[in-house]
Amino acid sequence: MHDTAPTHPPRVGFVSLGCPKALTDSEAILTRLAAEGYDTSKTFDGADLVIVNTCGFIDDAVRESLDAIGEALAENGRVIVTGCLGARAGADGGNLVRQVHPKVLAVTGPHATEEVMDAVHRHAPKPHHPFIDLVPAAGIKLTPRHYAYLKISEGCNHRCTFCIIPSMRGDLVSRRVGDVLAEARLLFESGVKELLVVSQDTSAYGVDVKYRTGFFDGRPVRTRMLELCESLGALAAPHGAWVRLHYVYPYPHVDELLPLMASGRVLPYLDVPFQHSHPEVLRRMKRPASGERNLERLHAWRAACPELVVRSTFIAGFPGETESEFEHLLDFIREAQIDRAGCFAYSPVDGAAANALPDPVSAELREERRARVMAVAEQVSAQRLQRRVGATMQVLVDQASALGRRGGVGRTYADAPEIDGTVRLLPPEKASKTLKVGEFTRARIVQADGHDLIGLPI
Ligand code: SF4
Repeated sequence: MHDTAPTHPPRVGFVSLGCPKALTDSEAILTRLAAEGYDTSKTFDGADLVIVNTCGFIDDAVRESLDAIGEALAENGRVIVTGCLGARAGADGGNLVRQVHPKVLAVTGPHATEEVMDAVHRHAPKPHHPFIDLVPAAGIKLTPRHYAYLKISEGCNHRCTFCIIPSMRGDLVSRRVGDVLAEARLLFESGVKELLVVSQDTSAYGVDVKYRTGFFDGRPVRTRMLELCESLGALAAPHGAWVRLHYVYPYPHVDELLPLMASGRVLPYLDVPFQHSHPEVLRRMKRPASGERNLERLHAWRAACPELVVRSTFIAGFPGETESEFEHLLDFIREAQIDRAGCFAYSPVDGAAANALPDPVSAELREERRARVMAVAEQVSAQRLQRRVGATMQVLVDQASALGRRGGVGRTYADAPEIDGTVRLLPPEKASKTLKVGEFTRARIVQADGHDLIGLPI
C-alpha cells in the first residue's frame, strides 16, 4: 500500500521568551511536538508555522514579546502565541495580543500545552507516523543537558502589589509530589547534574492541597517542601548531582531545611526574593512573610549552616519609599551579607495595584537608588567572594574545549546558572587532568575577579 506520510514532517519554528517558568512551558510544548513527529527549529526558515512563548511581566518584556510576534508574522505569517502575555487584556478589555497583532492564528495563556497543540494540529496537521521513539526519556530541554529546571507548582496565592502574575497564572496549584519526583529521577538518570527547583513560591509547596500525602515508588511522601527536598536529595545522591532551591520565602518552616543543607543533601544556597527590608515598604508591597524578622532569621540560618549562600532581588524606588526607608535597605544588604543581589528600579506594570499607591518616586530617583543598591551589593558580594581565595571547591563544568586543555568555565554551589557568577578555570597543570562539560572538577581558587572566581583545576 502507498505510504501517505508526507516526505517532510511539518516544521514548527519556536521562539521562547521569559523566565525559567516559561522555559519549562516551552520544553513541555517542544517535547509534545517531537513526540508527535514535528520538526522543530529556532528559526522561521521553511517553518509551517511559528510558536512564540511570551512574557508579560514588565513593560520591557511586553514590548519584546510583541516585537517577536511582529517579526514572526512578517517573516513567516503563521503564528501561534502562548505564555503570560497571551493572558493579558488590552485597553478595550479584549485580548492584548489580538489587538496589536490581529493576524495571529491562535493565542493562549501560560502552561497551555494542550491548547497550543490543538492549534498546531488545526494549522499544521499531525504527521502520519508519530516518531515516538525519537523522544529522549526526559523530554526536550532547552537548558544544557547537565542542568534542568524542575517546576513544582503553578500560580501564586500572594497578591504582591507590584505583580500581576496571580492575575495571569491564577492561585497556587502544586504538582503531585509523585509526579515531581518521577520527573526528577528521569532527569538524573538522563545525565542531569544540577536540578533547579522553581515555582512562584517554593516554600508554599503543598499549601493548596493541605500538604496531603502522595506516593512515589509505593512510599508515602507528603506534598511539602521539606519532604520534597529530602526525597530530591536522596534521588540526587547516587548521581552526585546538585539540588538548588529558587524562590524561597523566609517563613519559619524554612528553618527545617538548614540541616539538609548543612549535611549536603541539597545545596546550601537559597534564592530568597526579599525585594525590600523596611517593614512599611514590605507592607505596602504586601510581600509574603513581611512580618518575619528577616535579619534574625538569616543570622540563625547562617549559624545552622555556615556555608549558606543567599541570593536575593530588590526593588528600589517603590511608591512612597522615603530616603530613610531606602537606607534601611542598604543597611540590610550590608548586615545580611547578601552574597548575590539583583535590583530593579520600580517599574509600574499595567494592572498592578501598586500603581495606585500615593507618593510615587520619580523615575530619576528610582534609577539613582537602583545604582546605589547595586554599588553596596557589589561591595558586599566582592568581599564575600574574596574569602574563597585559597579554598578548594567543587566546580560543575559548563564550558570546556579540547578536554579543558585551554581551561574552561564552571560554577560552584554558590552560583546558579545564568544569574550568578562563574569560575574561570585555568588550563590544568597536570597533563592527565581533563575537563568535561557536565562533570565536576575540584579547583583551587586563586583569585576573585568582580562577580567571578578564577580557579586552577586539581
Ligand atoms: S509572590 Fe508576589 S511577586 Fe511572586 S508571583 Fe506571587 S504575587 Fe507575584
